[in-house]
Amino acid sequence: MNILILGGGGREHALAWAVMQNPKCDRLIVAPGNAGIAAIAECADLDVLDGAAVVAFAEAQTIDFVIIGPEAPLAAGVADALRGAGILTFGPSLAAAQLEASKGFTKAICDAAGAPTAAYARFDAAEPARAYIREQGAPIVIKADGLAAGKGVIVAMDIDTALAAIDDMFGGEFGAAGAEVVIEEFMEGEEASYFILCDGLDALPIGTAQDHKRAFDGDQGPNTGGMGAYSPAPVLTDAIAERAMREIIHPTLAEMVRRGTPYQGVLYAGFMIKDGQARLVEYNCRFGDPETQVLMMRLGGQALDLLHAAAEGRLAGARVNWADDHAMTVVMAARGYPGSYDKGTEIRGLSALPETSSQMCFHAGTIADQGRILANGGRVLNLTARGANLQEARDRAYAMATDIDWPEGFLRNDIGWRILP
Ligand code: ATP
Repeated sequence: MNILILGGGGREHALAWAVMQNPKCDRLIVAPGNAGIAAIAECADLDVLDGAAVVAFAEAQTIDFVIIGPEAPLAAGVADALRGAGILTFGPSLAAAQLEASKGFTKAICDAAGAPTAAYARFDAAEPARAYIREQGAPIVIKADGLAAGKGVIVAMDIDTALAAIDDMFGGEFGAAGAEVVIEEFMEGEEASYFILCDGLDALPIGTAQDHKRAFDGDQGPNTGGMGAYSPAPVLTDAIAERAMREIIHPTLAEMVRRGTPYQGVLYAGFMIKDGQARLVEYNCRFGDPETQVLMMRLGGQALDLLHAAAEGRLAGARVNWADDHAMTVVMAARGYPGSYDKGTEIRGLSALPETSSQMCFHAGTIADQGRILANGGRVLNLTARGANLQEARDRAYAMATDIDWPEGFLRNDIGWRILP
């Protein structure tokens, strides 16, 4: 099988690494890729937001299967363009990707499906939104309806903060994404993520995970794209996960079918867990980054068979061969991230790192330059390992960090703090 993966972050390096281990993969191209991906697959310079260009490239390279990593190509309708051209594609249609692109849409689906989530109201004008906030009181959560790169959500612990968020959103701070606002009940509990492959009708869970959004140890500092993750997430027990499949995931998929927009791809469900029950916080329509790094470390080569089965509508008979293992990824980022940071600093020591089926350094923002590896982004490396338990995975991941010579980088030292001493 000739395979094309769209994207160039740690998520796509992990996907590429897993896909390459499967003997059914004859040739792998990643667009645009990064320095780490270039060591295991071909990288191509391609505008992944241009559906016609991606189709033309896939046809010219006789690609049999396309896997879409990030949300931007999904939001640009690239999955529709590929399927329209008869190319097998993993990733939802533009219509189905509304589950991530519009929070109001997802709330309406939850209503129709009877899925447990926070109580809410939708507003397209500031004054009624303010009145609703005064009536409900704080804490309360204010969300811009559309995609806002994770910045369009304000968890307001007091009414003044909530009202200020309304002013910002209707004042245009989030552009079109804030033209409509969802105001939600504040949910207490512990957050965890659940990843489910979907083929339109059937669903297959492929793992739980928890990430670490804040930049610094002790959950201090600004929010980031994610500084580390581990899988499985013990808070999402089998019983809670099974109930969530029954109460949230299957009813969501059925409602999407009923609307004529079946969901095919990975559903990345963010849950709030309390008293033995999960409630939906959000859906994302693609793999998480860095959660994919730990999921792929655990799944290995079978990931290709599972993604392929989802794309072909064959999940009914599919199953995951679990190894009863645990995985952790620790992100190394450029100092200054998520604010401004330098690019072009050299990272030494990478070539000496052992890379095995239990230990990989997945690259995110890196670039190769005359045999050297240079930092080329905010989040730069993902030190990923697995073990018989989380402590073993953690020890291996952090041992990799000691071999990396990159004074301009930093990492969190407490990934896994919720579970490990
Ligand atoms: P991202 O995709 O970056 O996680 P997003 O913009 O899609 O963010 P959400 O996931 O809906 O937004 O919310 C971001 C965070 O805000 C959640 O991970 C959670 O910590 C918090 N949050 C959102 N909704 C609620 C809620 N109703 N109650 C309590 N906390 C919430």
